[in-house]
Amino acid sequence: MGSGQVTSSVPEGFSEFQGKHVTVAGLGVSGIPAAKVLHARGAIVTVVNDGDDARAREQAAELEALGITVRLGDGATLPDGTELVVTAPGWKPDKPLFEAAREAGLEIWGDVELAWRLRGPDAAPWLAVTGTNGKTTTVQMLASILKAAGLRTAAVGNIGVSLLDAVLGEEHYDVLAVELSSYQLHWAPSLRAHSAAVLNLAPDHLDWHGSMEAYARDKGRIYEGNRVACVYNVADKATEDLVREADVEEGCRAIGFTLGTPGPSQLGVVEGILVDRAFVENRHKNAQELAEVSDVDPPAPHNIANALAAAALARAFGVPPKAVRDGLRNFTPDAHRIAYVADVDGVAYVDDSKATNTHAAEASLAAYESIVWIAGGLAKGATFDELVAKSAKRLRGAVLIGADRALIREALARHAPEVPVVDLDRTDTGAMLAAVQEAQRLAVEGDTVLLAPACASMDMFANYNKRGDAFAEAVRELGA
Ligand code: ADP
Repeated sequence: MGSGQVTSSVPEGFSEFQGKHVTVAGLGVSGIPAAKVLHARGAIVTVVNDGDDARAREQAAELEALGITVRLGDGATLPDGTELVVTAPGWKPDKPLFEAAREAGLEIWGDVELAWRLRGPDAAPWLAVTGTNGKTTTVQMLASILKAAGLRTAAVGNIGVSLLDAVLGEEHYDVLAVELSSYQLHWAPSLRAHSAAVLNLAPDHLDWHGSMEAYARDKGRIYEGNRVACVYNVADKATEDLVREADVEEGCRAIGFTLGTPGPSQLGVVEGILVDRAFVENRHKNAQELAEVSDVDPPAPHNIANALAAAALARAFGVPPKAVRDGLRNFTPDAHRIAYVADVDGVAYVDDSKATNTHAAEASLAAYESIVWIAGGLAKGATFDELVAKSAKRLRGAVLIGADRALIREALARHAPEVPVVDLDRTDTGAMLAAVQEAQRLAVEGDTVLLAPACASMDMFANYNKRGDAFAEAVRELGA
């Protein structure tokens, strides 16, 4: 194959990687498949990893058996002779390994960049979604809509199904619904989506990105080179600013979504109907009905916004209105996202354990009128004043758990001094039952007891799933 010519028996990209020294940073969900794929394409791969525990050794042995070099316990030093770095998305850009790579003028690709580069010539276009909150839900809604239109598609990316698998697997897709995190976007310089949406922008992961500006800049990369539509949130000006700053293909349109009446080139809501004034003939006069608000599950304001964003991307791809409605009707949200658990004595118990930051919790609290709020955990540097001030009028009471609960207690004292607060001085897993019992004591008929912690779970639970499970279990004990 000296000519480097690609034939049907040789994978696409073969010639590009043949004999190239590639360093893969990080074992794990993205590093292992990346190392294997690059090795199979003729690259000389070295995997570097900070950790050196039993699991890492096991994974290393598997790769070494294939002829891949693995260096455990040192993820800081760039191996001699490296020509390209492929990193796990979570690795912080200020790591010495990357500084050395940049000094040497090397490219650094993340898992998304690798998938983008390896996709075949007739690969499916990408409809991409990012944002601080709502990504998973929106991408799943989008996939459901695309399926309802009879398209072969999958929800992929930062959502369980790896892009590499989607791009290189046997399955042929017409279009992909792609969830992208800010980390993934940081490491994906050449990605060019068909159309993309930024749902919202609130401070998150700032320790990783360094500043709000850097975080926004990385999110904004999703619009670069878009061909058909850049979808933004009318209520969140920062998302519109990112569209303005993006360098897009000629003819690509800015499309807004709003919970209010849409203007031309927007999707919005009119009298309980989701309507499109963007992808219709004569948008200055006409609007197209897409679905009813009650087709969206749950019909909470933030989730209607997610549905509108998904609809905008689908419409940009040419999906007919009926498929938008059917796709939304077929959709059920993942667990722990405003999941109704049960009614006990006329009080509804709702699990939004996935509300791991203040922006998500604010959206969640805005969905109910009278709430006993269960909150707390690891604050990740967040402050709670704005959240509490905005939500105070809806709070019947609050029950606080977890390591950083004092921060929320202090914000409640400042902005909602009349709201009764139970401060559970516990971080053990069993504390959830006590929290739910306290919430029951505070609630009156017609209230909602809402687990929307505004914090990460790891001080008390393995992850947010386990936290939500503990809540549901506690509610069942109340019922029994
Ligand atoms: P992500 O994938 O971005 O984490 P999810 O769809 O998993 O988003 O939703 C995470 C949480 O964020 C939900 O449990 C809910 O509390 C909140 N949320 C969902 N959509 C939005 C939105 N559009 N705006 C604000 N918060 C939202």
